[in-house]
Amino acid sequence: MSENLETFDYVIVGGGTAGSILTNRLSAKGASVCLLEAGAEDRNPFIHIPAGYIKNIYSKKLTWNFKSKPTEHTANRSFILPQGRVLGGSSSINGLNYVRGQPDDYNTWAQMGNKGWSYDAVLPYFKRSERRIGPGDDTVRGRDGEMPITDLDLVHPLCEAFIEGAKELKHFGFNLIDIQRL
Ligand SMILES: Cc1cc2nc3c(=O)[nH]c(=O)nc-3n(C[C@H](O)[C@H](O)[C@H](O)COP(=O)(O)OP(=O)(O)OC[C@H]3O[C@@H](n4cnc5c(N)ncnc54)[C@H](O)[C@@H]3O)c2cc1C
Repeated sequence: MSENLETFDYVIVGGGTAGSILTNRLSAKGASVCLLEAGAEDRNPFIHIPAGYIKNIYSKKLTWNFKSKPTEHTANRSFILPQGRVLGGSSSINGLNYVRGQPDDYNTWAQMGNKGWSYDAVLPYFKRSERRIGPGDDTVRGRDGEMPITDLDLVHPLCEAFIEGAKELKHFGFNLIDIQRL
C-alpha cells in the first residue's frame, strides 16, 4: 500500500440527495468522508433557477440519459427517464416541490409488517431535514434542517378553485384537512 494513500472513515458512492446529506451529517460530526460522484460540479445556472429543470432533464451532461424502451403499450414510443448525474444528483434537476406522503400511506406500510415505517416513526426524519420558513404547525414541521421549505409565492386562483371544487365533490379519497396540515 502506498504511503500517500489517503484513508477515510467513510466512503460514500453517489453525491446525490441522500449521499450529500449523509456526507454533510457525518463530516459535521468530525468523521472524514470521501464522496465519489460520477457527474460534475453543479455549476450549470439552470440548476439554481427553480424552473430550470425543464431544460436540465434533457441535458446530456447532467443526466444519465436513460430512456424507456418502446413498447406496444406506449404506441412504440420511448420516453426520457431523467436521473441526475451531477453533484446533487436528481435534486439538482428536480422540480423543487416538497411533497410528503399522506399519513395513511406510511401507516399502511407499517400495518403490512414494515416496522419503523408508520407516520409517527418517519415524521421525526421529515422534521429533521426540513427548515420550514414562515407559518406552519411545528408538531409536523421542522425548523432547523438543511432543506429550506416555503409556501408557493404565487398561488394561482385556478388551483385554489380546483381544490375547492374537489372538496365540494369529496373527490379525493383522503381528508383535505390532512393535506393542509402536512
Ligand atoms: C426530473 C425529476 C423531477 C423530480 N421532482 C421532484 C420534486 O419536485 N420533488 C421531490 O420531492 N422529488 C422530486 N424528484 C425525485 C427526487 O429528486 C429523487 O427522489 C431524489 O433526488 C433521489 O435521491 P437519491 O439520493 O436516491 O438519488 P440521486 O439524487 O439521483 O443521487 C444518486 C447519485 O449517485 C450518482 N451515481 C450513480 N452511480 C454512481 C457511481 N457508480 N459512481 C458514482 N456516482 C454514482 C449519480 O450521478 C447521482 O448523483 C424528481 C426527480 C426527477 C428525476
